[in-house]
Amino acid sequence: MTSPFKALGLSSDLVETLTEQGYTVPTAIQESSIPSLLEGRDLLGCAQTGTGKTASFLLPIIDQLAAGRKRARMPRAIVLEPTRELATQVMEAFKKLSKRSSLDAALIIGGESISAQEKALARGVDILISTPGRFLDLQKRGHFLLSSVSVFVLDEADRMLDMGFLPDIERIFSMLPATKQTILLSATISPEIKKLSQKFLTDPNIISIAAPSSVASTISQNKIIFPFAKTTPVGKRLEVKFQALLTLLKDHKVSRGIVFCNRKRDVDTLAKKLTALGFPSLALHGDLPQNKRTRTLNEFKTQKISLLIASDIAARGLDIDDMPNVFSFDVPSQAEDYVHRIGRTGRAGKAGHSFLFASRQDEKAVQAIEKLIRTPIPLMTLEGSDAACKSPPEASPDPDPSPKPPSQRKHQPRQKTTTPGPTPKGKKNQVETKEPTASPSALLGFGEDQPAFMIDTTSYFAAPATNSKPMQMRYGTVVKPTDKKDM
Ligand code: AMP
Repeated sequence: MTSPFKALGLSSDLVETLTEQGYTVPTAIQESSIPSLLEGRDLLGCAQTGTGKTASFLLPIIDQLAAGRKRARMPRAIVLEPTRELATQVMEAFKKLSKRSSLDAALIIGGESISAQEKALARGVDILISTPGRFLDLQKRGHFLLSSVSVFVLDEADRMLDMGFLPDIERIFSMLPATKQTILLSATISPEIKKLSQKFLTDPNIISIAAPSSVASTISQNKIIFPFAKTTPVGKRLEVKFQALLTLLKDHKVSRGIVFCNRKRDVDTLAKKLTALGFPSLALHGDLPQNKRTRTLNEFKTQKISLLIASDIAARGLDIDDMPNVFSFDVPSQAEDYVHRIGRTGRAGKAGHSFLFASRQDEKAVQAIEKLIRTPIPLMTLEGSDAACKSPPEASPDPDPSPKPPSQRKHQPRQKTTTPGPTPKGKKNQVETKEPTASPSALLGFGEDQPAFMIDTTSYFAAPATNSKPMQMRYGTVVKPTDKKDM
């Protein structure tokens, strides 16, 4: 029987490698993109990680470059990634997929020894997998020429723009030969990405995999609202949220998870406090040296630590096996980041749980998220515990949000639980409730009368995913561009 990968036009060597890796069926993006990429056409792909998008561009590159010969300092393909972690992940995928070829790739990223990278370039590599900063640095120093580049991949383009890489990307693009294949992949197709694609791409094949706002149907979500007053000091907020996190970790014997914080200093603080309390944790954010970042990620992947406390640097694209829980300790400022955060769990058809910590002041940001994912996030309820969030007028800001020994802790009533009901069926882009007496905002947990924080301590692990509109299949379905507003 012909392999479906063979039917897409891939070489027998690659098909054999794919079979060995256990890939038997192409994902939606692979099916739609590989034939046209093998023909040399440009591609605009709207796809998130988890859809098999890395192999969708690496496989045709491997077959296309197989015919040529590598030359010193003259790479033939460039793959740009927004973060070092993603570049490393693509390099790992390349190594696995190219094992039957004689192709070599170099990982050109900051924070790693530059001289080792210079040596690799001098020996000659076929593909550069890189982040923009180090790429430009080495290019300026004359360590490679771009005249032989025949394929250029801009991965996670929306993230690149968010991170302010646009000028770097435009510079790199202007240095590439006019005749080349360009592959632009982005989780969302914003007007900026559209503009970029018009500038960079010629007659592209346009593919969209599921909706950019989609959330895997295997993920159950809950939000926990802390009714802090506007004046509640930051330290107090951290302390209360930290206690809620501990409750979730302990009561549900959470073995693994990522805790996302908006501030790097909170990332560091939480990692220390959790480790001290018996939850082995490490911090991951952009201010840490690269070797530490790499080590931390490896320790998390190999389960040497159970919790990763991270900034949004870890929100995108990281493919970590067996990652059942995501905690958003803060509401992300961009609604899309929430989707990326929770996309770290519920992968490969496994169940995942997401907990969003929010305060009343986050109401608009939470509404933006719910609008984006087109479903209200069920509230976790805890009866009778207003006190924890109240900031008495005489209370001074608590500069040390560390958990106190139980004897010094303010009494926090034991949570009495209620089961979060099924997600209210929402009209598109609008949260609706059937409760006749309460205001919609109260039902969403933002009302003045809400308890301090609300945690269901019994039911959610048993509960099926509560999204009223599960959107994304694991490996995606192709959505016609006309189905989407933005394309
Ligand atoms: P990506 O979207 O590139 O991050 O890929 C997500 C995960 O899907 C990675 O762990 C890949 O190894 C895996 N994968 C990619 N293509 C396939 C396929 N055709 N069948 C099964 N798994 C795949």
